[in-house]
Order: sequence, then C-alpha cells, then structure tokens
Amino acid sequence: MITVEEATQIVIENSRFVPDEMVPFQKAVGRVLQAEDIMADRDFPPFDRVSMDGIAIKFERFENGQRKFSIEKTQAAGAPQLALEDEACCIEVMTGAMLPQGTDTVIRYEDLSIHDSIAGVETERVEARQNVHRRGSDRREMDVILERGALLSSAEIGVLATIGCTEVRVSGLHRACILSSGDELVEVHETPLPHQIRKSNVHVMAAVLGTWGLNADLLHLPDDPTAIETTLRDCLKNYDVLLMSGGVSMGKFDHLPEVLEKIGVRKWFHKVSQRPGKPFWFGSTNSTVIFAFPGNPVSSFMCLHRYFQPWLRASRGLQPIENQYAVLAEDYFFKPDLTYFLQVELTNSPDGRLLAKPVTGQGSGDLANLVDSDAFMELPLERQEFKAGEAFPIWRFR
Ligand code: AMP
Ligand code: MG
Repeated sequence: MITVEEATQIVIENSRFVPDEMVPFQKAVGRVLQAEDIMADRDFPPFDRVSMDGIAIKFERFENGQRKFSIEKTQAAGAPQLALEDEACCIEVMTGAMLPQGTDTVIRYEDLSIHDSIAGVETERVEARQNVHRRGSDRREMDVILERGALLSSAEIGVLATIGCTEVRVSGLHRACILSSGDELVEVHETPLPHQIRKSNVHVMAAVLGTWGLNADLLHLPDDPTAIETTLRDCLKNYDVLLMSGGVSMGKFDHLPEVLEKIGVRKWFHKVSQRPGKPFWFGSTNSTVIFAFPGNPVSSFMCLHRYFQPWLRASRGLQPIENQYAVLAEDYFFKPDLTYFLQVELTNSPDGRLLAKPVTGQGSGDLANLVDSDAFMELPLERQEFKAGEAFPIWRFR
C-alpha cells in the first residue's frame, strides 16, 4: 500500500491542462490569468486627485500666514479641471475631483469655518500637498499590474475594471462529472425507505467544484457492472475529470475497480495508508483523470480536499499552497500504521497560536461531525502518540 506522500505525488504528476479561453472579466473569479501580463492603461491615479472634501489653496499662502480664503468656485468630481485665478483665493473641491490648476494643497471641511463665501482655516496643522493623491503614485502607465499565472479574485476584478479590460484570457475549465454509486442511494427530494439514504457526497463535491467555477454534471452508477461499464465508457469520451464516490472498497458490490480496468483505465494506485479514505482508487486515460473515492462521506470529503483540490490547482498552473500548521490542543492517540486525518476545530489562543481541538466522532461515516470541524489535521503514520503543544499540518475546509 502506498503512503499519502506517494499518492500525492502521483496525483500531482497527473495534472492536466485544458486550453485557455477568453472570458468577460466579471466571470474571471477563481480563474488563472494566462498568456500575458496585464499592464496599467494609464497612470494610477490618472490625475492629481482630491482625496478630501474641502478647499484647495496654494500652500505658499498658508505658509506666509494667510488664514482666510475667499471661495472663487467649486471643482466637482467628474468635471474638467478648473484653474485658480487669484492666488489669494481658494476653490472648493470634492473628493475624486481633479486638483485645480494653481493649487497644491487641500484643507478638509472639518478644519474650516465658512461664512459668506470666505473659508477660515481653524488649524495650524496644514502640510504642503496634503489630501492630494498624486498622479501615478500607485502605478505608472504600462507598469505590470497583474502577472501571468495570477489567481483572479474579487480584488483583481476591480483592477481589470479600472483599466478597461473587458475580456481576459484565463485557464480553461475542466469538463467534470461527479458520479454517485450504490443501490441504497436516492435523490435529495425523495423520501428514503428504511434501507435507503439520500445522496450527499455528490452535492458536497459539486459545491466545492462550484467554488472553482466548475459546473459539474451529476450521474449515478447502480451496483451493476454492465450498467457501470456503459456509463463509464461514455464518461471517458466526454470529460476531463471524473469524481466518484463509493464502490471501491472490499464489498461484494464494489465493482468500480474491475470495470475501470476492463475499459482500459490505467490504475495508478488503489488504497492509500490513511484513515479515513483508505480504499481511494486513482487512474487515468490519455484524456481523463479518475478520482474514485470511498463512499463514506467523511472519506470522500477528506480526499476531495487532500488530493483533488491540489490536483486542480496544479492543473490550472498554480503553485501548491504552502503547508499550514496548527498546534494540537489535547493529547491524541492513534494506533494503526496509517496517516490519520483528524477532524479538528480551530481557535486562536491569546498568545497567537492556532489551536486544533480534536472533534472525535464515530469514524469515517460521521458526516454530522464535519459541521463542528474546520480542518483535518494530518498526523504522521510512523507515530502513535501525539502530544498537546505539537504542531502538525492542517487541511482547512472552512
Ligand atoms: P461504499 O464505498 O460504496 O462501500 O459506501 C460506503 C458508505 O458510504 C455506505 O454506507 C454508502 O451508503 C455511503 N455512500 C456512498 N455513496 C454516498 C453518497 N453519494 N452520499 C452519501 N453516502 C454515500
Ligand atoms: Mg457502495
């Protein structure tokens, strides 16, 4: 049986690029910028920008002792630049406006008293060029503003909007299919008979894929090898990645491994020395990568986060996330010779450490426990005793 590290390496080596595509910038969240760096189309900000409502003056006047300024006119945001005609006067200015020609300093309303169109300055603390956001102080025209390979989040959408980038070339979307398996499963809207349960894994997977912008198709495999074979043959033609849950363990009706091999899928591994998720089966063809997770909801959930998401990152050209660590809050024992993925609740201690409190339940089927947990803590296979205060890697899912 292979280790978690070996399995991870094989999964990542099987990452698959799909062709880039152009998308409207509003749809680019979660995608990776491809093909080119994005440059600033003009200076940021594009003009000396007033950053407080108040008056604009020539600082020299204030420096020489002048405290009362007659208001010549008003410079609004969105209006072409005005000019101060008399240096002894001022122009009322609004946030976002161009700084009027002939002025260099803005004094905010809070430091003024205005009567009969005369602004009196009520503070001695005025500095040259204050409250002016200088043209080009953030970025210069043609500066690289987003680098190729950047993961686009809401912040990047704002940058794309600012520079007028209506369409952007990004990593393509994998065609994904999620398959449930097992004759005991019924749809969510159905009322299960005593021997049935509702499908949950496939919806958990669909929700996670949704956060990556992937709209997966959902299919079902009954516990019948012929039907499984027909559906899977079709899937291999139509999808870049298949995510399955159930049917890969030692049971009499766990047909997936034999059918997958029969239809020509190369098996990379079956079984990983881990709990939960030991029966994880992984394979590929030239065109499709197949993750077949065990059906226990916690097993498939853990494998999804520990193996599938890193694969998807790599397949989109992203660097792996650096390991995150937390400190175990209580002693924990785990005897079997397996890497244990302990469900933990994370809290911050007053000394700034991230603490992981074990959320112990009824083993790998205990779905309800997941709502009380924030992460899996990865406890190494070669040890059996884990002491409070020791740090181990965590895989957050919240
Ligand atoms: P299996 O891996 O097929 O032996 O299934 C292990 C356990 O997981 C069984 O109790 C199944 O009923 C359950 N299970 C399998 N698939 C799902 C699913 N999509 N949603 C919820 N539970 C499932
Ligand atoms: Mg089953």
